[in-house]
Amino acid sequence: MTYTHLLLRFGELNTKGKNKIEFIRTLEKNVKHTLKRYTTAKVIRTHDRIYIEINQEDIDLIANLISNVSGIQSYSKVVRVDKDINLIKKASFDLLKEEKVNSFALSVQRGDKTFPYRSLAIINEVATDIIEILKLKVNLHNPDIKEYIEIRDNGAYLYTNIIQGLGGFPLGVSSKALLLMSGGIDSPVAGFQMLKKGVRIKAIHFASPPYTSDLALEKVRDLLKVLTLYQPQIKLTIVNITTLQEAIINNCTEPYNITILRRMMFRISQIIAGKNNCKVLVTGESIGQVASQTLESMKTINAVVSIPVIRPLATIDKTEIIKQANKIGTFDISIRPYEDCCTIFTPLNPVTKPTIKEAEYQEKKFLFSDIIYDVCKNIIVEWVKEDE
Ligand code: ATP
Ligand code: MG
Repeated sequence: MTYTHLLLRFGELNTKGKNKIEFIRTLEKNVKHTLKRYTTAKVIRTHDRIYIEINQEDIDLIANLISNVSGIQSYSKVVRVDKDINLIKKASFDLLKEEKVNSFALSVQRGDKTFPYRSLAIINEVATDIIEILKLKVNLHNPDIKEYIEIRDNGAYLYTNIIQGLGGFPLGVSSKALLLMSGGIDSPVAGFQMLKKGVRIKAIHFASPPYTSDLALEKVRDLLKVLTLYQPQIKLTIVNITTLQEAIINNCTEPYNITILRRMMFRISQIIAGKNNCKVLVTGESIGQVASQTLESMKTINAVVSIPVIRPLATIDKTEIIKQANKIGTFDISIRPYEDCCTIFTPLNPVTKPTIKEAEYQEKKFLFSDIIYDVCKNIIVEWVKEDE
């Protein structure tokens, strides 16, 4: 069967009016961007749908690209014909004739009420040949295949497949977030979750050369590169925190090292978020995963910032996070063996229930705000871009 179009459906579209229009327009723009290399494919927006006219392109290739666009709940490969009952009959027949099935059901949606045949009449017209020539049986409750016929203003659309999309919202609908990006498994997945919800991200990475190598940085770039599938360009701010880390090691009580380092990271992230118009911070923290991710730790670390911190993976188990990382293609990059500044820095006995009072006491031992000031003056900014 030669499909002519992809039909895209929106999910989570409980919003109405202006928001709905913005949602659909943003999605249209994103779909067009995704297909920009496929010059004969045409994107057509109606009030509640988006169609892609395939023309000379390969429909499976286009479908594959579409499956990575957020805001699409499901999509179908469809055949479009003009609203003529004979054309509809023929297309319905053709759609089923090569299927190895015994039973079928028809679902007719007559969106265009001016179409002269009512739904039942369409079913009668279409079903006859399928029953008599293809010898298929009607089974309304548990058919081997279901054929959908939609009579719309701009044509009749027929299909038998409904494929799950990425879901979420179209990218760009909401404001930006700053993702704290380590080279680990969790933070890229957290970033993906935000992108899926339509939130644009910028990334911040803390490096401590010479304790961390350029290869660790390369890992971060490669991870972000994977995420450019969902957002074509990602701004990456690299912050060199070696001096800060050395000051912590030299001045603070060892079990508090990670807590203090995290508090410094949050402070710096809040500053960078402010400069980049990012409304929230995003981390890959997951409750209980490591010592610094107990609720007490989160409270003590979070206390130094007023910007909201979103933790998309807070309640997700590691096995599930790994599954997601594999699915989006970040896992193999994340497990490359280059040390992150925190790994090197982990004390033998990190405190699992740090208190704000003790953290503040430790921080009085050195002039961290001066160091943060210097650190923020020496940031490096890069853009990670999708392949052209
Ligand atoms: P990940 O797999 O994301 O590295 P993790 O399980 O190793 O997470 P931690 O090392 O405790 O957990 O880090 C918790 C979160 O803090 C990370 O998910 C990330 O958002 C942030 N983070 C840690 N290290 C860095 C870093 N070097 N640069 C930027 N953010 C970091
Ligand atoms: Mg880590």
